[in-house]
Amino acid sequence: MDRKHAKLILQLASSLDIAVNPSADAVYDPRDDRVFVWATPDDHPKTAMWEGMAPGMRKGQFTKPCGFAGYFKFDFAGIDEVYRIIIHPIFRDSAADEAWIHARLTTLAAGAEVVVDVPVVNYGVVEAEEAMDNETRREYERNKKALLETYSRKVTIPPEEKTYHGFYVDGEAEIQVLSDRDPDAWYLMTPARFTSDEFGWGDNDRASQETALCVLLDYFDETLPIEKLDISMRFALPFKAFVNHTLFRSGVMEKLEPEKDWVITSRQIKDWLDENAVICPACSGSGRQPDGLNCPVCGGSGYRSDFFHVS
Ligand SMILES: [Zn+2]
Repeated sequence: MDRKHAKLILQLASSLDIAVNPSADAVYDPRDDRVFVWATPDDHPKTAMWEGMAPGMRKGQFTKPCGFAGYFKFDFAGIDEVYRIIIHPIFRDSAADEAWIHARLTTLAAGAEVVVDVPVVNYGVVEAEEAMDNETRREYERNKKALLETYSRKVTIPPEEKTYHGFYVDGEAEIQVLSDRDPDAWYLMTPARFTSDEFGWGDNDRASQETALCVLLDYFDETLPIEKLDISMRFALPFKAFVNHTLFRSGVMEKLEPEKDWVITSRQIKDWLDENAVICPACSGSGRQPDGLNCPVCGGSGYRSDFFHVS
């Protein structure tokens, strides 16, 4: 396979551009040497997660309802040769998603009459290779905590693109925040250590409470001054995440299936808040008095805070 072959596949993908072509098989968006691939309600990876997301898929600026699945990328060696093709699903570690994107590649290659005679690999393989190339980074790979810190560096994701993905690695609950537009934009959340040192869901335990708080902190782009909370809970009252997290735990996190992966979009959180969170009647949600000072009823969060009335 060489650059000419890759170009034939990229050209076919261009003619099947999801932004302009209404045909059902037009689910692509080629960018340079990558082809972004979109799942639709009728054609998506066969997982419970995608089954759950399919009914909520929206059209947006595209020609059909869809959800971003990931991309495949031509990895060129030298000037002309394709060395390999790298598959990058948006949901890390999902073999079903990887296989589904691979199938889209196979379909495009067949349509372009190109024989894929190079290895098709998961980006995890590439990441591991890059780590092996670098002695310092290899040290990091050995140290899980350092690795987690690397992945916990917050990248900026527009709030409306955010998706929260709960999953288990070696029996430990992790939460990945990702963009539904760009597979390279993601990070792992770390517990704020307010009620627990770990995440959890599916019960009314402290780990579920911690998850509810941290998801909302991320959603509202807030940082709770944990060290000050030792002095007084009042420090937490202006925070939208704090005043709503117990309700969010009982309404959402607690109802998830324990030990199972889940996906919640920022759109779903917004809908849930619109329906369940109680706007402060004194300031109509602004958190401010007319003179610009914090609203004395809600403490500044804009939501009704039961904690405030109790304390
Ligand atoms: Zn208020």
